[in-house]
Amino acid sequence: MINIAIDGPSGAGKSYLAREVSRRLGFIYVDTGAMYRAIGLYMLRNGIDPHITAQVVHALKKVSVTINYENGEQAVILNGENVNAFIRTPEVSMAASNVSAIPEVRAFLLSLQKDLAAASNVVMDGRDIGTVILPDADVKIFLCASPEARAKRRLVELLEKGTATTLEEVLADMEKRDENDRNRKIAPAVPAADAFILDNSDLDREGTVITALEMIAAKTGITAD
Ligand code: C5P
Repeated sequence: MINIAIDGPSGAGKSYLAREVSRRLGFIYVDTGAMYRAIGLYMLRNGIDPHITAQVVHALKKVSVTINYENGEQAVILNGENVNAFIRTPEVSMAASNVSAIPEVRAFLLSLQKDLAAASNVVMDGRDIGTVILPDADVKIFLCASPEARAKRRLVELLEKGTATTLEEVLADMEKRDENDRNRKIAPAVPAADAFILDNSDLDREGTVITALEMIAAKTGITAD
């Protein structure tokens, strides 16, 4: 199987890039952030503080996370319920970031992620795909952009969804989450030694996709139709 790993900080456009690249190459898109979000959502819904490791680990026993594909879109199934509609709020983002620093949570999702990559050609996006989950991925891309560029894009997304917020709030949330993700002891969000670094601060979405496809073609010879 061909495995393409896309990692990077929040708001760099990993999901769009991974979705587009997978569509154009005919691969399956696996969004691992959505899995952490589902676990974060479970904790919030059940009144469990995502910072308190012992409580989260205990609650994890009651959690089942799986993935379905409905009309080509990944649906995250939390204890039998498709939770896609509930996992994109700022509260769930922060809860996901907090629970994702807990080793038991990462171990809980590791085999699901590895199994998906073993079964199909995938483009998988996350924070530790190239370093931990798929260290032998055929292509690794670390997608990044300046915090300001990322916060502006995220603001547009949130406003479109009707979430009332400001650039300052989004930037502050993003910097806090980046700091969490980059500095945690386990699976920090850093580029793999053999990753291509793609900084898209000055690229639009299509420019980013084209650049990534060039990197993939250079490494594997695979091109989009
Ligand atoms: O990518 P997304 O913003 O949806 O991820 C939500 C959170 O889940 C991130 O802030 C990060 O803490 C965590 N995450 C992770 N490892 C991954 C994917 C996401 O730790 N592979």
